Amino acid sequence: MVSRKTIASILDGYEDIVIATVCSHSSLQIFHGARQEGFRTLGIAIGKRPRFYDAFPLARPDEFLIVDSYADILDQADDLVARQAVTVPHGSFVEYLGADVFAKLRIPTFGNREVLRWETDREKQRDWLTSAGVNMPAKIERPQDIDRPVFVKYYGAKGGRGSFIAKNHAEFKESIRPGMKYAIQEYVVGTRYYIHYFYSPLATAGYRLTRGSLEMLGIDRRDEANIDEMYKLGSQEALRHMGLLPTFVVTGNMPVVLRESLLPKAFEMGEQVIERSMELFGGMIGPFCLETIVTDMLEFKVFEISSRIVAGTNLFIAGSPYSDLTEPGMSTGRRIAREIRLAQKQGRLADVLS
Ligand code: AMP
Repeated sequence: MVSRKTIASILDGYEDIVIATVCSHSSLQIFHGARQEGFRTLGIAIGKRPRFYDAFPLARPDEFLIVDSYADILDQADDLVARQAVTVPHGSFVEYLGADVFAKLRIPTFGNREVLRWETDREKQRDWLTSAGVNMPAKIERPQDIDRPVFVKYYGAKGGRGSFIAKNHAEFKESIRPGMKYAIQEYVVGTRYYIHYFYSPLATAGYRLTRGSLEMLGIDRRDEANIDEMYKLGSQEALRHMGLLPTFVVTGNMPVVLRESLLPKAFEMGEQVIERSMELFGGMIGPFCLETIVTDMLEFKVFEISSRIVAGTNLFIAGSPYSDLTEPGMSTGRRIAREIRLAQKQGRLADVLS
């Protein structure tokens, strides 16, 4: 992990920050939001400059840095610092670079990178969330103990790829890939809500926490192939006999809202997760997402946390039914830029960057 001292000394030389991220995932939104807050922007592209940015002039970065591979970003750290870059992490950036490498990147980065230790290891993630008081789906310790439908997932966020459902030990053995670390959870039946929060350690108004405030910027639900459309072909059981198993690869997102009576609980969960993160590792900063299922008893089960901007926020570049009630037109990308700007004005960049 890059030390706070190193980042602070780099920041000493920064006057005109450039917001940089890898051209993928939620980069259009991040660049668009940064520009709205008056920042210059830099897109890191792998291989060649992506052409599709030309179609979206309001979100096209001012400059590109082309690298041969994700690993090469590490070698470009000095160049990025010379350009006064602050990187904004997103799912693809961290996943493809590798959490370990990302943690060591000597470039000021939005958020607290200590969170990676708690997020990438599914055991630690469960400790964090459950010790915060958040409900999670029950954990099944051993495949032999599978006595109800379960959901099996591998370590690392890969857009749902590889996850599978098993209703017994035999089905588990049929689908498990050898040599990969996995976790088994009870399969929770209900409806999914991916809640986009933003925690600001700098805010002094709004939904106050011990320190700073919590905001809700939107909620989405993911489109997943092939599970979402499989029913058109027949029952999952019938399809299983034909060798067709459901997959959970994220292909897009849809906007949703929660029934209003669930909002107090949604805020309470966000609050618990943040307060606990302060005790465990100095606090998660900025955008995060609780991936939840609401049962017919109106209970939330949180099956995963994502501790940075999620791609579902791309729905709300022009605002959401929630962010419209704090500031119309506020996207998560713009909110990140706003926080950096505020920190810069208050001389507190080290409080929101790591
Ligand atoms: P993940 O691999 O955690 O991103 O999850 C991929 C998909 O599986 C999402 O559609 C989730 O709703 C679903 N899912 C994950 N965990 C569970 C669970 N414990 N019960 C039911 N569905 C789940």
